Amino acid sequence: MLPKRLGLATPTMHGEELQYIQEAFDTNWIAPLGKNVDSFEAEMCAYLGTRGALAVSSCTAALHLAIKLCGLKPGEPVFCSDLTFSATVNPVSYEGGKQVLIDSEWDTWNMDPLALEKAFEKYPECRVVIVVNLYGTPAKLDKIREICDRHNAILIEDAAESLSSEYQGKKTGTFGRYNAISFNGNKIITSSGGGMLLSEDTSAVKKAFFWATQSKDPAPWYQHSEIGYNYRMSNVVAGIGRGQLLHLDEHRDRKVAIYERYKKGLEGLPLQMNPYTDDARPNHWLSCVILDEDCTVTPGDVIAALGQENIESRYIWKPMHMQPVFADCDFIQVADRSVGEEVFARGLCLPSDIKMTEEEQDYVISVIRGLFDK
Ligand SMILES: *Cc1c(COP(=O)(O)O)cnc(C)c1O
Repeated sequence: MLPKRLGLATPTMHGEELQYIQEAFDTNWIAPLGKNVDSFEAEMCAYLGTRGALAVSSCTAALHLAIKLCGLKPGEPVFCSDLTFSATVNPVSYEGGKQVLIDSEWDTWNMDPLALEKAFEKYPECRVVIVVNLYGTPAKLDKIREICDRHNAILIEDAAESLSSEYQGKKTGTFGRYNAISFNGNKIITSSGGGMLLSEDTSAVKKAFFWATQSKDPAPWYQHSEIGYNYRMSNVVAGIGRGQLLHLDEHRDRKVAIYERYKKGLEGLPLQMNPYTDDARPNHWLSCVILDEDCTVTPGDVIAALGQENIESRYIWKPMHMQPVFADCDFIQVADRSVGEEVFARGLCLPSDIKMTEEEQDYVISVIRGLFDK
């Protein structure tokens, strides 16, 4: 058993974060806004190669603003990745829309372009599509964007898990008209909590800023013509984010090395690593495996065996169409058996903390191998 608990993915701090926070204290810019927020946005835009960014309190808030920018009518369908965390799809309900859940494909575990085409046949009026890059693996973003363009639909990219991943040489978080990233505690970089809305459309980002700061009309007194939200990121939080951004590529390289080590270490067992396409460069936020169909070991067995050794691992996100809260949502699949359901039934996430030592990872691998030697 490991002497100290090995987590799935915990924050890794470096020290620069404190310097930026100190600066906020020194200038008394503790309250919302200030230099760290503006600089964090500008630095993220430079990193991603995009024009507009709005730092907010969470990625969920960023997704909400993205959907608000689409101006949904009550009950309007929105096509959403099915195999994801609920935060990808919840904001559709905030705006009175209706999720239509799109099954995954085997190549990436992400939204299947064929299922998306099929969904447009059934709902030709659909105007908004939300795609996620699961565990840091880019979806087939070129195909998905082409399908959206052909149907005059707005693409929203949930890049919460894929910050620093690339698809066809371009960073994820830049493929949608609106894009969202997360700095939650378990993500590849963290600000302790926070997110960003990203778009090339700077006037849309301006509108989102208006909503995110209580929809204050330009008047000498507090005047409101629209409902507002308190979604802005604080200057202290942005300071942590700025310090982390300096180490983003380093974090990605560590995550990639962890994935490659698992791949090698688990070779020969009846399982596969989570897949990606040749034109993608995933950040491998979480390394995952899927057990072979005829394998008698279950994800629950692996999770329990690792748990006994003080090692955290997790089930794959339970697909949205299997969630009680979304039971009445339509689900579009092309395969006879839902790919998302199968990945959920046979897959799991392995510890991917970048502070994990090679010895610790070898131990994880040996515990997993032990389950198959019996
Ligand atoms: C973490 C996560 C979110 C939500 O991010 P928050 O910043 O915690 O709101 C959204 N989508 C996906 C896919 C996530 O993993």
